[in-house]
Amino acid sequence: MQPSRTSRRTFLKASAAAAALAVAKPGRSDAWGVQLPRVDGERLNRILAGFRSFGGTPDGGTTRLAFSEEDIAGRAYAAGLMRRAGLDVFTDLAGNLVGRRPGGDLGARPIVIGSHIDTVPQGGSYDGQVGSAGALETALVLSDYGVALRHPLEVVVFQNEEGGKTGSRALVGRVAPFELEIETASGFTIREGIARLGGDPDRLAEARREPGSVAGFLELHIEQGAYLEAAGTQIGVVEGIVGIRRWNVEATGVANHAGTTPMDQRRDALVAASDFVRAVHEVATTTEGRQVATVGKIEVQPGAPNVVPGVVRASLEIRDLSMAKIDSVFAEIEARAISIGEARGVAFAFDRFYESLAAPTDERFRQIVEASADALGYSHSRMPSGAGHDAQSMAEIGPVGMIFVPSKGGISHSPMEHTEPEDVVRGAEVLLGSVLTLDGADWD
Ligand SMILES: [Zn+2]
Repeated sequence: MQPSRTSRRTFLKASAAAAALAVAKPGRSDAWGVQLPRVDGERLNRILAGFRSFGGTPDGGTTRLAFSEEDIAGRAYAAGLMRRAGLDVFTDLAGNLVGRRPGGDLGARPIVIGSHIDTVPQGGSYDGQVGSAGALETALVLSDYGVALRHPLEVVVFQNEEGGKTGSRALVGRVAPFELEIETASGFTIREGIARLGGDPDRLAEARREPGSVAGFLELHIEQGAYLEAAGTQIGVVEGIVGIRRWNVEATGVANHAGTTPMDQRRDALVAASDFVRAVHEVATTTEGRQVATVGKIEVQPGAPNVVPGVVRASLEIRDLSMAKIDSVFAEIEARAISIGEARGVAFAFDRFYESLAAPTDERFRQIVEASADALGYSHSRMPSGAGHDAQSMAEIGPVGMIFVPSKGGISHSPMEHTEPEDVVRGAEVLLGSVLTLDGADWD
């Protein structure tokens, strides 16, 4: 319902309902006898299952590659639900699908919610889709209950999250022109894909939203890890998306005859690299915190059974919510590499080649998510996100918050990916509660 067509009385009742939600369980009436908005769990899970009509596979998974026919059909399905929720639906110049409802306060900036519906090849039916379904259900509930928000609300289905968060990065002006020519998993280039979705790749720059132009962004997502399930916790309050730094590591010893070089005279780069791999694991494990460090790639030269390895090239990746923490973990690893090198007669060199900055969520949003979970009686816990999300891009233009729900067995990007229907509902209820609380917050 649009506020222009909503009476002042309805608006006040809705605002009271919104305010009351923070302290009352949805579905009950508050002190004024106003029916509090609540998620229709059955409809929500029907919407989620409905996405499987577009690229769902018999094994329970989904292949809905960005820009594919399945993607286009899935977006049309989402657009239909947006219209049913009374949203004004459009595709922005970057190819993101947007549904907008006006706010009652003309000066208020939009609250943005949403996620993505594209998947990896042989992917799951929950990644991105739970958050998209939750955002659509939130808009439907607001429409059902005739809630007039103070802020405009935008529901966004970002394009090509799995292929590099193209849609959300375009929205914050971070897609470089050369990226348009990159071929994606569907076989279409990003340029072709944006055009297929109804965007205009030549006017991408105009899709950019200015920093400060949104009141905030909230994304519901599956955890894609096993932390919540293992802890028996229902809701994850995401502290942020971890930053990443990657290095090329080169260990240089001396290649020599494997038959004639005595063991005590070898400068074996692979033996040193083996010590290094163990040291990376030890430093990451024994340092306080939730940092992770990985050597995921290794290459030995000359790589022959009868030659003592002369050079090893490996990768090193460190992730943490704090870039300073990544630096200190790296410094410790580097020091260990130097002493390993001294003991083995091997020289280690590090060359940083990749960096993705950490995107912390907003402390006020974390508290709002926690208050919503508390009001609903759901257990919650703060945690980092080890995977990237559209919220990471959105953090460049406004405060963001993220809500995680458990992933069965921590499995993701697989047909085995699963989140229980009740957990999907809990996540959407926390999202709805957070939107209502955010709308009533007095800082914006
Ligand atoms: Zn995702």
